[in-house]
Amino acid sequence: MDNSPALKKLEEMIMECSRLDREINCFVESVDEITAQVRHEPSEAMVNLRNSVKERFTELMAGVTDAELQRHSKVVSFKDSVRKYAMQAGQTAAENEEEELDEDIAVTQSQTNFICPLTQVEMVNPVKNKKCNHYYDREAVLEMIKARHRNKKKFRCPKVGCGNTDVQESDLELDLVMKRMIQNHKRQTGKT
Ligand SMILES: [Zn+2]
Repeated sequence: MDNSPALKKLEEMIMECSRLDREINCFVESVDEITAQVRHEPSEAMVNLRNSVKERFTELMAGVTDAELQRHSKVVSFKDSVRKYAMQAGQTAAENEEEELDEDIAVTQSQTNFICPLTQVEMVNPVKNKKCNHYYDREAVLEMIKARHRNKKKFRCPKVGCGNTDVQESDLELDLVMKRMIQNHKRQTGKT
């Protein structure tokens, strides 16, 4: 249960309301009782009316227990609200955690990037660039390198943010573990 100072303060206030409500009831009860008594008594009893009410009130209030105040409808509904809110907050927190977990998995999967930066689809024969550790689909990258070299140009690593400006065919090695991972991933996501 939430034990924040604000909540504690609120609970104290509600309990105070409950006590005041009880006091009013006790006072009304005292007055009722005493006036009923006095009606059948000689007139001198009227003189002590105020004191009698006060005494009876003190007596009644002395009998009021904390447990009784806790049972006050306002206190009960307050505690119900707090409990419901705490439960909702707990549920929301749990749901958020689950969502975050899903997001984490999604991020992990996308970080283990199976998408070729050239073809924008999942690689079939992933080759790893030994210089910058980026992956490309073998056919696509070889074709690009050849095309660039034919034009006497360097082939820059197509991975966004990579500083490798000269990718050579000799930098590339087939990564069979990666290939297996992609095949497993395809099977899991139902793509063929
Ligand atoms: Zn790179």
